[in-house]
Amino acid sequence: MCGIVAYIGERQALPILINGLKRLEYRGYDSAGVSIWNKKTKVYKRKGKVADLEAFIGNDDLTGNIGIGHTRWATHGEPNDVNAHPHMSMNGKFTIIHNGIIENYSRLRDKLTSFGVTFKSETDTEVLANLIEYIYEKGAVDAELAVRLALSKVIGAYGLVIICSDEPDKLIAARKGSPLVIGVGNEEYFLASDATPIVEYTKSVIYLNDGDVAVITKDQLTLKTDHNKSQTPIIQELNIDIGEIDKGGYEHFMLKEIFEQPRSINDTFRGRVKTENDKIHLGGLYEVMPKLIEAKRILIIACGTSWHAGLVGEYLFEDLARIPVEVEYASEFRYRNPIINKDDVVIAISQSGETADTLAAIQLAKEKGALVLGICNVVGSSIPRETHAGVYTHAGPEIGVASTKAFTCQVTVLAMMAITIGRSKELISDSSYQNLIKEFNLIPEKIEEILQNSLIIKEAAELYKDSTNSLYLGRGYLFPVALEGALKLKEISYIHAEGYPAAEMKHGPIALIDEKMPVVVVATKDSSYEKIVSNVQEVKARNGKIIAVVTKGDTVIRKMADHVFEIPETNPVFSALLSVIPLQLFSYYIAVMRGCNVDQPRNLAKSVTVE
Ligand code: GLU
Repeated sequence: MCGIVAYIGERQALPILINGLKRLEYRGYDSAGVSIWNKKTKVYKRKGKVADLEAFIGNDDLTGNIGIGHTRWATHGEPNDVNAHPHMSMNGKFTIIHNGIIENYSRLRDKLTSFGVTFKSETDTEVLANLIEYIYEKGAVDAELAVRLALSKVIGAYGLVIICSDEPDKLIAARKGSPLVIGVGNEEYFLASDATPIVEYTKSVIYLNDGDVAVITKDQLTLKTDHNKSQTPIIQELNIDIGEIDKGGYEHFMLKEIFEQPRSINDTFRGRVKTENDKIHLGGLYEVMPKLIEAKRILIIACGTSWHAGLVGEYLFEDLARIPVEVEYASEFRYRNPIINKDDVVIAISQSGETADTLAAIQLAKEKGALVLGICNVVGSSIPRETHAGVYTHAGPEIGVASTKAFTCQVTVLAMMAITIGRSKELISDSSYQNLIKEFNLIPEKIEEILQNSLIIKEAAELYKDSTNSLYLGRGYLFPVALEGALKLKEISYIHAEGYPAAEMKHGPIALIDEKMPVVVVATKDSSYEKIVSNVQEVKARNGKIIAVVTKGDTVIRKMADHVFEIPETNPVFSALLSVIPLQLFSYYIAVMRGCNVDQPRNLAKSVTVE
């Protein structure tokens, strides 16, 4: 969430900052701002979108070769012009942009106030700007030392970029808990909270580690720890392309990403799932596979959509690998005193690899001695670096805030893992294995088939776009799909939606059903099909509107339902991968018809880097 972009070099900084902020819009934000150094520091900031900021800048002269830009997602102080970043210290010496939270800001603010410092905004960030200036003016030899000393007094998380007006040939950047990437150009550097604003200028990047402080002039970068220990910067090559972060002709990133799923799942397979006579290759897990096979229990920790993928994982691991699984919300897990045994394996799932609660839960699991694995999409992000081993989903950049292709790729990885373990434990016979792999390989084309029938889904969406509530039901592998379908609708259309295990409906939600209540039932053919048919009847008897996701050729539910979305037949193990697609499209169309900002839903952020 929230974005950072900064530049130092020979080019004009402003267009690079504005372009970069637009690239970061997908992360979700409420205000935007830039600051350019040119003999003095100029700050322009505005509540609203980057376009509002551009309009506010208008034709003002903001030339200069050093600049910082920010999209804010408010944590301390409402979204308004004053609270937007960059923040300048009281005497104008330091201008900073900050992602994260300074947890002890209130105590620091009181202290600085008692020393005569005054504040313009309500933010924790301005407190940090003033703390740095206060330490600097008390005699720190240079800006870098003032920054390091100030950070030693701070509790919390930050990605920071700072301009000091006394040392205007440099940017100072620091990271703790909030990602920062530095793009290395030819006598120029680009900084950003993720690689998307950088990729069109350079593919050589340095990912800062927690505790790193970088001092950057146009031709030199010095990297140290916050304790002043020199670090050798490790330059890595970015493997994303500029074309991957454009809309590619679709109206929204979310729609593009929904339609990309046949390809993204193929990318997740690539080099890993070949023919039915080959083993599944999960290179990132080779060394830990013996421990994984022996695991007495698997704990999956995640948030949001990744948590739903984790629930599918629970069914997969229990079904195919006979390992008991618990799926935990990272935010709950980290604040309990969880029992973790040495034979347990913890799997953390996060699209961005930066989810703050998941990262903290990983630390806790590591402290308790568990083997911790990661399933992430963003290469080089924090979770892959903090876990012992893991698997990348390779879904490509996911820009739409509501996750779609990341979910199906996470489920794909979990299925590959469960099949691999089940096979190694000889729980899956040769012929079952061959059938599974054959079917697995058909998933992308089956998704393609569902996508080709999107018109039926769009037509149904038209009828339900004005609903205020809806209920999503599923059983077994399809219960997490019901949860995910409901979440998608809530996230982007702001219609209240509940996901429920179909049989649980009788224990509460059935009271909500009347002729106005759309009930989305995920009811493809599997062992609980007969049971869910009864649940559909219960809804019908109360005049609920039934929208059902069914297996192609289904006649039983078709008779009862108001609308059916057919999906091709598959092994129930893979049913989540197919049945979620119509639900993604259904919420997408409803949201568009309601005029909602699909790619940047209100109040939401792409990667939640605060707890
Ligand atoms: N805590 C800071 C604020 O509320 C930064 C928020 C962000 O990460 O955008 O301004």
